[in-house]
Amino acid sequence: DRPRDDSVKGLLSGLIQGDRYALARAITLVESSNPRHRVQAQELLSEILKRESTLASQQKTTLANSTPSLDKKPTDADVESTNTPQSSAQQGTSESDEKNKDDSIRLGKSFRIGLSGPPGVGKSTFIEAFGMYLVSKGHRVSVLAVDPSSARTGGSILGDKTRMTELSRHDMAYVRPSPSRGTLGKVARNTTEAITLCEAAGYDICLVETVGVGQSETMVADIVDMFVLLVPPAGGDELQGMKKGIMELSDLVIVNKSDGALVDSARYAQIEYTSALKFVKAITPYWKARVIRVSSMGGPEAGVGLAWDTMKEYFNTMQSSGELQRKRGNQRKIWMWRQVSSELMDLLHEDTQVRKMAVELEAKVLKNEMMSGAAAHQIVEKFMKGMSTS
Ligand code: GDP
Repeated sequence: DRPRDDSVKGLLSGLIQGDRYALARAITLVESSNPRHRVQAQELLSEILKRESTLASQQKTTLANSTPSLDKKPTDADVESTNTPQSSAQQGTSESDEKNKDDSIRLGKSFRIGLSGPPGVGKSTFIEAFGMYLVSKGHRVSVLAVDPSSARTGGSILGDKTRMTELSRHDMAYVRPSPSRGTLGKVARNTTEAITLCEAAGYDICLVETVGVGQSETMVADIVDMFVLLVPPAGGDELQGMKKGIMELSDLVIVNKSDGALVDSARYAQIEYTSALKFVKAITPYWKARVIRVSSMGGPEAGVGLAWDTMKEYFNTMQSSGELQRKRGNQRKIWMWRQVSSELMDLLHEDTQVRKMAVELEAKVLKNEMMSGAAAHQIVEKFMKGMSTS
């Protein structure tokens, strides 16, 4: 084992070599709220961005005539070389190793997939089977989780049970053991940054899992390329209870557990969801949401392979139309402004003068002695005055 190097430079070189431990430490760094860590995290992330844009412009020249595509099946040789990251990625100094590494962090090649669904629907089971299928195809897969429940309750829906045991032990996979927690804004920022780190470490497919409660799906849908909803093999009441909002976010609905005695109800659910989707506005003109049936326990033939084929089709359609890059650009813009609001709110709450005034104004608003709009205006004015004199 090499000695740990937790400097920004050390983490960066570990990441580029595909070192899982460097990746784990880098994610811990971006999740930290320690101001010194935040500075290091920003430094690391901007080094990665710089590196990526240099690579992207180099590749523009060399790959001028070829569009990156997930359809390209890895050759046996590809699979063999990526199957031994120790030899190819970690010691990699030869020219061809360099080339492989750079190819795997090619901009636009990574695919970010959000997965959601109610507890018990089979998310862990699906991700384990799906992830193992992807690594068998030569992909490197990272799995991150987002747990909205703990922000308020301190509890955890995604649980601390050992999840995806086979996948997390695999050389070509990285499963982040604990879900990202905190306020929605903080979780979104942490997750986006963690995705960037995973991609820099050569993971070309990033799965972001969340539980189907609260606003977490909207948040996840706003940071991934494709949003996939897992549902149980029952229609009717379940569908009634399902918020229309989540159907509107979904690019693909997977009816899981379509096996044994459950096949009939899975078929029924598929029909129900398909017709429900007819009333949902399409997210993009390039893709119409679909419903498929999968058994996460029956091997690739039982639907996991079909799920990947459908996702690949989505990726290739979005990529070749330029819609994927547009979507990512818009997402970055949305999050920049959300980040501005959340940082401003933090500053505002830290301002003692404003806090004092806010208590008085809140009381007035409560008693209906003052309009909320007027109170808000006074708070902002006070805050800005404080800012300009500080
Ligand atoms: P999660 O809470 O959404 O992560 O769900 P789990 O992956 O923990 O699965 C919940 C239960 O459903 C477990 O007992 C699994 O064995 C079972 N399960 C998951 N996928 C399937 C499937 O495709 N078919 C069947 N029959 N059971 C499944």
